[in-house]
Amino acid sequence: MSVRSFSVHGHFYQPPRENPFSGVIPREFGASPYHNWNERIHAECYLPNAQLGNFERISFNIGPTLFSWMKSYDPDTCRLIIAQDRANFQRYGVGNAMAQSYNHTILPLSPRHDKETQVKWGIAEFEHRFGRKPQGMWLPETAADLETLTILAEHDIEFTILAPWQADYYQLDPTEPYRVALAGGKSITVFFYDQDLSTGVSFNPSLTSNADYFARNVVATRFLAEKSQQGEPQILLIASDGELYGHHQQFRDRFLAHLVDGASLSAGLEKTYPALWLKSYPPRKWMSIREGTSWSCHHGVVRWMGECECTPGDGRWKAYLRQAFNRLANNIDQVYVDSLSAVQIDPWELRNGYIHVILGEISAEQLINQCAGRTLEAAQVERINLLLEAQRERQRIFTSCGWYFDDFSRIEPRNNVAYAAQAVRLTRLATGTDLVPQTMVDLRYVVSHKRGLRGDMVFKSLLQKASYPEFSGKPFQ
Ligand SMILES: [Zn+2]
Repeated sequence: MSVRSFSVHGHFYQPPRENPFSGVIPREFGASPYHNWNERIHAECYLPNAQLGNFERISFNIGPTLFSWMKSYDPDTCRLIIAQDRANFQRYGVGNAMAQSYNHTILPLSPRHDKETQVKWGIAEFEHRFGRKPQGMWLPETAADLETLTILAEHDIEFTILAPWQADYYQLDPTEPYRVALAGGKSITVFFYDQDLSTGVSFNPSLTSNADYFARNVVATRFLAEKSQQGEPQILLIASDGELYGHHQQFRDRFLAHLVDGASLSAGLEKTYPALWLKSYPPRKWMSIREGTSWSCHHGVVRWMGECECTPGDGRWKAYLRQAFNRLANNIDQVYVDSLSAVQIDPWELRNGYIHVILGEISAEQLINQCAGRTLEAAQVERINLLLEAQRERQRIFTSCGWYFDDFSRIEPRNNVAYAAQAVRLTRLATGTDLVPQTMVDLRYVVSHKRGLRGDMVFKSLLQKASYPEFSGKPFQ
């Protein structure tokens, strides 16, 4: 009998919920009896899965922005999760946690310098939390293009996980990983997850009510008979949102524990995870990918930039919002690059290094002086620090959740506008440059088809609350 291995990947992530001006998550009534959704999902999913030891049994990634919230809310659970990856690392020499690019940005829609920042910040965050280098990186929405994969490989990331329809070949064999050729003679390994199993686990609760049944009668039947007869090793990967296990579906944290540790063993399946699998079975075949594709939009990455059938109703606001933020990001960058060039600092090296300030490893002053190669005056340091804070907000405005749903009046796109307002405010504080007029013009076209709410209205009211001079009649505080 050949090796038949099985792995579950959980992508744990929540949209950022903090008000960017206060840093505090407002009360979310739908999350009752908890204060907000992060706390409720924590109680229903992150905590029980950590207590059950599931983070040792599966392949997983935790979005950096979620992990940083969890670190302050419940450091004990963070320690449990990290210890479970470490246990595997000590036993096998490879861990089961994967990194994730920092904000939940659809990377194929980003320019190269943003992709690099997202990947570098994601790696630095992973190293900070897990105390080791990441071998694999999860891409938000598994959105991929060759440039993104090349940047991963340039940063020594060995593998990622994609949906099977992202492969450029309809007869994909999902029981083994593939190598994808990249620019500069580089390559990256891709695990394409099993579509039927992953969809079933995510959207058909009746399929996952009994782990023994699922392992024996569903998973075990998906292996290829021909390969089994020839003694060839096979791996099947289920990929899903981690919140499925306990939050979206009750008791699935227990289902997961039994599936991976008891039920699959009884069904003759071996437990593995991508990094462990690669130790014994490096990829043998090559595959090319379809550029600009993802796991939750079957129209490429249109869901996050325009109208497609994934979300009903008038979706024109998505294109206008993307366009407005692209222009705003360019304008913020121009101010940033000009200001840094004037003091002979490489703006992108500085921005990429800023993650160490975010993580509290060094102070902003240390980083700025280090990049400058000399000691700058306090006023200069303060100004550059404000520009770096603006760059952090500017990364957050591209959080994919802002475009994921059907309507602009939801909290997720309005949060992205809040990050934009804060980025504009910080840029003005640092340099006096006012990016508001152009942004107001661009956001006027962003209209909620359900409530008539417009992007510029949201933007203006946020700036009013933040005492932006033109809207509040007050000077900056
Ligand atoms: Zn779509």
